[in-house]
Amino acid sequence: MSAEPEVTIVGGGVVGLACALAFARRGAAVTLLEAQDRLALAASGTNSGILHTGFDSKPGELETELILRAALLRPPVLAALGVPFARVGALLTPHGEADGAVIAGLAANAAANGVEVHVRAGDGALEVPGEGITDPVAFAGALAAAAVRHGAAIRTGVRVGEPVAGDMVVNAAGLGAGRVARLYGDASFDVFPRKGEFFVFDVAPPEQILLPVPTARTKGVLVFGTLDGRTIAGPTAVDLDEEDWSVRPEARDEILAKAAAMHPPLAGAEPAFAYAGLRPAGCDGANYVVRRSDADPRLIHAAAIRSTGLTASLAIAERVVALAGLGDRPEDELRPGGDPAAGSASPWWRRSAEHRAALAGERA
Ligand SMILES: Cc1cc2nc3c(=O)[nH]c(=O)nc-3n(C[C@H](O)[C@H](O)[C@H](O)COP(=O)(O)OP(=O)(O)OC[C@H]3O[C@@H](n4cnc5c(N)ncnc54)[C@H](O)[C@@H]3O)c2cc1C
Repeated sequence: MSAEPEVTIVGGGVVGLACALAFARRGAAVTLLEAQDRLALAASGTNSGILHTGFDSKPGELETELILRAALLRPPVLAALGVPFARVGALLTPHGEADGAVIAGLAANAAANGVEVHVRAGDGALEVPGEGITDPVAFAGALAAAAVRHGAAIRTGVRVGEPVAGDMVVNAAGLGAGRVARLYGDASFDVFPRKGEFFVFDVAPPEQILLPVPTARTKGVLVFGTLDGRTIAGPTAVDLDEEDWSVRPEARDEILAKAAAMHPPLAGAEPAFAYAGLRPAGCDGANYVVRRSDADPRLIHAAAIRSTGLTASLAIAERVVALAGLGDRPEDELRPGGDPAAGSASPWWRRSAEHRAALAGERA
């Protein structure tokens, strides 16, 4: 391998962009290829925008390890790049004795992960002070701009449909990651869309992120504020066979009843906007497929990052760099840039849905 290894990254979501920055800071010649005409239009621009602590993540899993590692890596990066973050904390209020047992279990889980939580005297609610909200599009945009400042080339409107050149290829293609793997003869995993629908309200937000009692499958419907002062309720969790970014008519009732019970100002409120995100979920329970491909050693997967990729992105990138054998290279000091939210015409929660609507209008 030459002194400047050539790294091609497939996918311009938050995971691919974090990888681009991490490789560029270590002197690699980075090219990132994104199929859409803009970055972070898929899961990375249509999520909840919450930076999780990992209080509820299963100890010992790679996802948990990388969430916890990212908590250490993130603060200086967000500060240097001007990414907005509000550490508002989260609150899970029990309703009945069974919920009390769940909260005790979550508190023990948090302790095992070394995450600060408190069980409130009186109502027994679980407080998680470290949880907070960001603007996920500004987050991804800041990583992209910084990667470019460190020498990376980012090309949008390029869908990878055959193996690409380069000493190394990072598969960060989200919902397309199974297809990209198969281009290299690797059928070891596949990905499917798990849809999450959200409703945005012009209603004063709760002070904290309000969490429901989780189930084994999802974190459930949350109510949280945005940095621009709106309230969002969601997401749902609907498994799909193919990409469908629409919000189902029935999602409104599914979400509103639960959300109003958690945040009474939502009772009777009309949503101002709705959007859907598609989680890149691994088939057969695969999650956080972050490893070298057995089929082609040039290929490194950063795939099936279903539900915490915004939070863990910097640590996923650090892991990918290590898998590429560049972990020992010194990192260039991060070059700061301007305001990552500047120049964005729409708030992040509108952007992907409006983009899709505009494209549909052009086709009609
Ligand atoms: C409803 C919902 C709520 C969530 N809430 C949170 C949260 O609060 N906090 C959190 O940390 N995480 C959350 N997540 C998870 C987080 O959004 C994802 O883990 C993360 O965005 C995954 O990033 P990614 O870069 O792997 O994938 P993506 O963002 O999907 O990016 C993949 C990119 O690859 C491109 N691509 C695909 N195929 C090709 C190809 N052949 N050639 C070129 N480009 C290609 C796509 O166009 C896409 O832009 C949520 C996700 C959803 C959907």
